[in-house]
Amino acid sequence: MEEKRLVYMDHAATTYVKPEVLEAMLPYFTENFGNPSSIYTFARKSKRAIEDARDKVAKALNANTDEIFFTGGGSEADNWAIKGVALANREKGNHIITTKIEHHAVLHTCEYLEKRGFEVTYLDVDENGVVDLEQLKNAITDKTILISIMFANNEIGTIQPIAEIGKIARERGVLFHTDAVQAVGHIKIDVKEMNIDLLSLAAHKFYGPKGVGALYIRKGVKIDNLIHGGGQERRRRAGTENLPGIVGLGKAIELATQDIEGHNAKLITLRDRLLNGIMDKIPHTKLNGHPVHRLPGNINVSFRFIEGESLLLLLDQFGIAASTGSACSSGSLDPSHVLLAIGLPHEIAHGSLRLSLGDKNTEEDVDYVLSVLPNIVQRLRDMSPLYEDFLKGEK
Ligand SMILES: *Cc1c(COP(=O)(O)O)cnc(C)c1O
Repeated sequence: MEEKRLVYMDHAATTYVKPEVLEAMLPYFTENFGNPSSIYTFARKSKRAIEDARDKVAKALNANTDEIFFTGGGSEADNWAIKGVALANREKGNHIITTKIEHHAVLHTCEYLEKRGFEVTYLDVDENGVVDLEQLKNAITDKTILISIMFANNEIGTIQPIAEIGKIARERGVLFHTDAVQAVGHIKIDVKEMNIDLLSLAAHKFYGPKGVGALYIRKGVKIDNLIHGGGQERRRRAGTENLPGIVGLGKAIELATQDIEGHNAKLITLRDRLLNGIMDKIPHTKLNGHPVHRLPGNINVSFRFIEGESLLLLLDQFGIAASTGSACSSGSLDPSHVLLAIGLPHEIAHGSLRLSLGDKNTEEDVDYVLSVLPNIVQRLRDMSPLYEDFLKGEK
C-alpha cells in the first residue's frame, strides 16, 4: 500500500526540530545531565552550555548576553514581559497600549491586568493589519508604562513598523515590548537599532524544541519576576533550567539567523507559486495581510461562501496539514479576532485558510496542494446555501 502523503504547511503553529539541533541537545539528556546550579566540576559543563546558548541568542538579536533570560516558551515570555513591567512600574502609571491583533498570550494577559486596575488601549489596524502610528502617538498619556506590539502576526503574517514604534516609545519614555515569536529567524532583528526594550521568542517556531523560549530585557528595565523560587537566571526566573531545551534553542537560533535572506528567497518563491496558483484557480478569493510586508512563508486567504473548519477536515483527508484562524483558537467557532480586526465580515472570516511554509516544503508540495485545494473549495461551495444565493443573484 502506498504511504499516505503528508504535506505540512503549518509552520506558524510549530516546526520540526532540525537534526543538527537535536544532535546538539542529546548529550544534555544523557551524559551531561548535571544541574547547572551545582558547584562540582561535573555540572560546569551544563552551566557552560547554558551560557553558550545565551551568547548565541544575544548575538542573533544584537543584545548583550546578560540581557537574555530563558523561559518555558513564547507565552511565558509574553506573560513575564507584560505582568512584570506592569507590576514593577505601578506607581508610575497603570496604562498599557497594545493592538487588537496580538497573540492570546498578550491579549489575555492584558485582559487579566484590566481586571486588576490597569487600563489597556487596544489599537486598531488597517485592512492590511498594520497599526496606525498616529493613533499610537495619540494613545500615549503620562500614565502609559508599556507598549506591547507584535513584530509579525501569526495568522496573517503582517510585519509591523517596529523601528518606528520603538522610536516613538523611546522618545516618549515608554517601555516597548514586542512579541517576536513569529519574526525571529525570518526577519533581521537588532534590538538596539530598533529601540526594543523587551522581546519574546520561542524555539519551536524556528526549528528548535517546544517548551523553551527567551525574554530579552534591556539592561535597566524595571520588571518584576513572574516565576518565584530558586536563584536561577541571575535571580530573575526560578526553576532548574531546561538544559537540553536551552542548548537546542541556542543551536536553532544560530542556524536560523545565519542566512535569513537565502532562506527567505526560497520560501518566497514557493509561497508566490502557491499564492498565484490559488488566485488563478479559485475565484472569489482574497489574500489577507499585507501584500508586501509579510512573513515569507505565510499565506492567509479567505474563500467566500465556505467554512474554514470543513476545509481543514477535507484537506486533512488528503494529508495536508494547515490551519484556520490561529492554532490556539481552533476548536472554537468564533472567527479569528485578527481577521475581524482587519475588517472582514464574519462570514468571510469563517472561510479562511492559513498555509505557512517551511524549509522542507518543495515545489511538488505546492503543486500537490494546487491539485487538491480548488476541488475541495468547489465541493464545499456546491453544498453552500450562501453560494446558491450568490449564483441566483448573478443570473
Ligand atoms: C506561537 C506564538 C506564541 C506562543 O508561543 P508558545 O511557545 O507556544 O508559548 C506567542 N506569540 C506568537 C506570535 C506566536 O506565534
